[in-house]
Amino acid sequence: MTFNELSVYFEKLEETSSRLSLIDIISDLFKKLQKDEVEKVIYLMQGRVAPFYAPIELGMADKMVATSIALAFSEKREDVLSEDRKKGDLGLVAQSMYKKNLFQGNEIEIGDVFEKLLEIAQTSGEGSVEKKTTMLSELLTTLDGNSVKHLVRIALGNTRLGVGDPTVLDGLATAILGDKTQRKLLEKAYNETSDLGLIARTLVKGGLKEVEKLGVTVGRPIRSELCERLPNPQKVFEKMGESIHSTYKYDGFRVQIHKNGDDISMYSRNLEDMTHMFPELIEGARKQIKARTAILDTEALAYQPESEEFLPFQETTKRRRKHNIDEVALKLPLKAFVFDVLYADGKSLIDTPLLERREIMKELIEGEDILIPSPGVILQTPEEMQLMLDDAFSKGLEGIVVKKVDSLYEAGGRNFNWVKLKKHSSGELNDTIDCVILGYILGRGKRTEFGAGALLVGIYDKESDAFVTVSKIGTGLTDEEWRSIKEKTRGHEMTHKPARVISNIVPSVWVRPEIVIEVLADEITRSPLHTAGMEINNGSKGVGYALRFPRLVRFRDADKKPEDATSVDELKVMFESQGKQS
Ligand code: ATP
Repeated sequence: MTFNELSVYFEKLEETSSRLSLIDIISDLFKKLQKDEVEKVIYLMQGRVAPFYAPIELGMADKMVATSIALAFSEKREDVLSEDRKKGDLGLVAQSMYKKNLFQGNEIEIGDVFEKLLEIAQTSGEGSVEKKTTMLSELLTTLDGNSVKHLVRIALGNTRLGVGDPTVLDGLATAILGDKTQRKLLEKAYNETSDLGLIARTLVKGGLKEVEKLGVTVGRPIRSELCERLPNPQKVFEKMGESIHSTYKYDGFRVQIHKNGDDISMYSRNLEDMTHMFPELIEGARKQIKARTAILDTEALAYQPESEEFLPFQETTKRRRKHNIDEVALKLPLKAFVFDVLYADGKSLIDTPLLERREIMKELIEGEDILIPSPGVILQTPEEMQLMLDDAFSKGLEGIVVKKVDSLYEAGGRNFNWVKLKKHSSGELNDTIDCVILGYILGRGKRTEFGAGALLVGIYDKESDAFVTVSKIGTGLTDEEWRSIKEKTRGHEMTHKPARVISNIVPSVWVRPEIVIEVLADEITRSPLHTAGMEINNGSKGVGYALRFPRLVRFRDADKKPEDATSVDELKVMFESQGKQS
C-alpha cells in the first residue's frame, strides 16, 4: 500500500467520533495491507518505528520539523513557527503550506517511508540534526497534502489518532482471526511482550499458535502487575485469605530490571526504556544478580542505609532526567528494592507462585549494596498487619503492599492478588485519582482570562477502552494551574468528540484525551450526569460516579499514559470503601 493510501485511513481514524468505527477502520486497513506492512503500520500509528520500549525514538523536536517543512515547501522557517503558534499543530501547518506541483505522482510505498523514518531515528552524532531535517524534508516532497500532515505528526512522535493499544488488538483480531473471540490470547501475548508489532507479525505469518509461544523474554518488558485498594487489614483478611504476604510500599519509580549477561536494560511502569538514566543500578545489577539472565521487579528510590532514611518522592523524581546524569547520580544515588523475580536463567517465572518466586529472588541477589531484596513477612492476623502498617508509617513510608501467597504474576493485571494499604484519615477519601482532561467549559467572569470556567475530566473504562466522565473541575484550580493546563492542551483541542470518549456532557471545547492529572477529592458520590460506572454497552444508562470538591494535586503526563489513569473498577472499589476505614 502507498503511504498516501494509508493517510486516507489515518484521516478517517482522526475524523470518527465512535470507537466501534475505529475498530472497523483499523480492521479494514489491516485486511488491505501486505503481510509485512501490518507491523510497520502499527508502529507508525503510535508515532514510532519500533516498539514503545525500544530506545529508537523518532520524536523529533518541533524546531527541527519546522526546518524540514520550510525546506520542503520553500517557506521561511520563522513563518512555519509563527503558523505553529497559531495552530498548535505542525501537521496542519505542513498541510497548509503543501504545494501541489511538488508531488510528481510517484507514489511511495509504506515500507519505503518506514525505512526512511527508521534511518532518521537511527541517525546520531555530529551533523545529525542537519541530516535528519534534510531526510524528512525530502520525504515530505514525495507525498500528497493529506499525507504530509500525518507524516509530520509521526515524525513528532504524536499521531493524534486517538487509537489505544486495546483498540489495535480488537482491529487485529477482527481482521486476521475473523472476530474477537480469541482476542484474550492476543492480549495475554501483549501483556507478556509489550510489543503490538511483534504480535501482528507473528499472527500474520504463523497464526495464533505461534503467538501463544511468544512468552516472556529478557529485553522485552512485561506489563507490570498493579495493586487494588482495600481500606484496612480486616478487609484484607476477609478478601484475600488466612495468611498474607506483606512488604513495605516504597514510593519511588517502578523499574523492571533485565539482565542478559553483562547487558542490562531497565523499563518504567509505562514501558519506557530508562536504562541510561540510572548508571548505578546498571552496576548493581551486573555485580549482584547471580543468574546469567533475569528479570526483576523493583522500586527505585533515594535511600540512605546508614540512617535508614527514605528520601521523599519529589527528591527521587529529580533522577528522571536526560542530562547531567552522572553528576546527579553521584549526588542522589538510587537503590532498587527488589520485590519480585519474573525470569531467571532462561526460564519464565510468571506462572510460579509468589512465595516460590520470592525464594528464587533471595537466592539470586548477592548482598544489599545497590539492589536490596525487600524484606517480606507472612502475616496471619489483622493485628499483625496493623503493626506492620504502623511500622511502615513510622519509617516515613507510604504503607504496605500485601499479596496472596500462592498468586501467579499477572502481567498487566490489577486485582485482589496485590493490594496496597496506605495512610488515611478517618472516613475521608485520601487516595488520589488520576484523571484525563477531556474538554473545557467556557466561563464568564474571573476565568475568562483563560477562556475556561471548568475542566471536564474523566477516567479510563478498561472494558470499553474508552474515557468516561467523572467530574467538572472549576474552583479547585488556581490561576497558575489554569495557565499550565492551557499550555499543555494547546493543539489538542478538537472540533468533535474524540472517538474513545463517552460523555453526556458536551463541553465548549473537546480536548484529545492525552493529559493525565492527579486529583484529590473529598468524596466519590453517585451521579446521573457522569458516565463513569454507567452501563455503557447500550448507550450510557443508569447512574455514574462523580467527585465532590475535586482539586488538582499535580500533572502526571510525564509518567502516565491516558490508559494508566484510574480505572472505573478502581473507582468503584474506592467508592465502596469510603467511610469504612478503621
Ligand atoms: P498504580 O501503580 O497502582 O497505578 P500509582 O502509580 O498511583 O498506582 P501507587 O498507588 O503509589 O502507585 O501504588 C502502586 C505502586 O507501588 C506500584 O506500581 C509500585 O511501583 C509501587 N510499589 C512499592 N513497593 C511495592 C511492593 N513492595 N510491591 C509492589 N509494588 C510496590
